[in-house]
Amino acid sequence: AETPGVLLQIDHARKQFGGVVAVNDVSFDVQTREIVALIGPNGAGKSTTFNLVTGVLTSSGGRISVLGKNINNAPPQEVVKLGVARTFQHVKLVPDMSVLENVAIGAHLRGHAGAVASMLRLDRADEAKLLAEAARQIERVGLSEQINQLAGSLSLGQQRIVEIARALCVDPMLLLLDEPAAGLRHMEKQQLAALLRQLRDGGMSVLLVEHDMGFVMDLADRIVVLDFGTKIAEGTPAAIKTNPDVIKAYLGA
Ligand code: ADP
Ligand code: MG
Repeated sequence: AETPGVLLQIDHARKQFGGVVAVNDVSFDVQTREIVALIGPNGAGKSTTFNLVTGVLTSSGGRISVLGKNINNAPPQEVVKLGVARTFQHVKLVPDMSVLENVAIGAHLRGHAGAVASMLRLDRADEAKLLAEAARQIERVGLSEQINQLAGSLSLGQQRIVEIARALCVDPMLLLLDEPAAGLRHMEKQQLAALLRQLRDGGMSVLLVEHDMGFVMDLADRIVVLDFGTKIAEGTPAAIKTNPDVIKAYLGA
């Protein structure tokens, strides 16, 4: 039975690609108002796990649920509707459009399939609603001053935050972030971490895949460690840091 605090439950998840078992009997959960980091060496199964949750891949076994509702093999639009939003490893903003336009278009694309055409057919009232929602999320992430700047003129750190604003437009309960700190400068990482803590403290949950250990150890409430498709450890940053199995996996011993 699921306890009331469980938002995302991954229960004996499995994914096989031909003869390769990318995710092998992995179980963990994400509670409400919690930041969980998924770490592990290259090829450990982090991206595959992420893609199982977001509906990009279909499971070979196990059960994944959001607030008790089974999302196994649910298509990505369905998973979004259940309150799970994601950002991607590489920035996908349109550089010569404004921050506002990027967030508004992204928000619209998430809600509807095949949306570029339908966006052009929006009536004035719908367009105004969409822009207002986008502006609200831009303010929430602290980028109001940049709202009319071209996305391509922002720093990489600010661009990552624009992507988060875009994800927030669907009003998610759970935010999935794929390597959000990659390529950022120290100060930008600190600003990103502060934003994620702010979102968590407002009631949101975050599941992130991240290679930057400093960032993860400073930010995560809990860490799940994968190696060769299997969960080898789970615990607080302090416990994970000194876990012999984790150290061994990272040293490749
Ligand atoms: P990570 O994100 O932790 O680096 P992945 O989840 O990308 O690891 O990969 C886990 C394993 O699954 C690797 O051995 C990888 O080669 C394999 N794999 C991932 N995606 C596919 C795919 N589409 N087809 C075949 N093998 C895959
Ligand atoms: Mg990966």
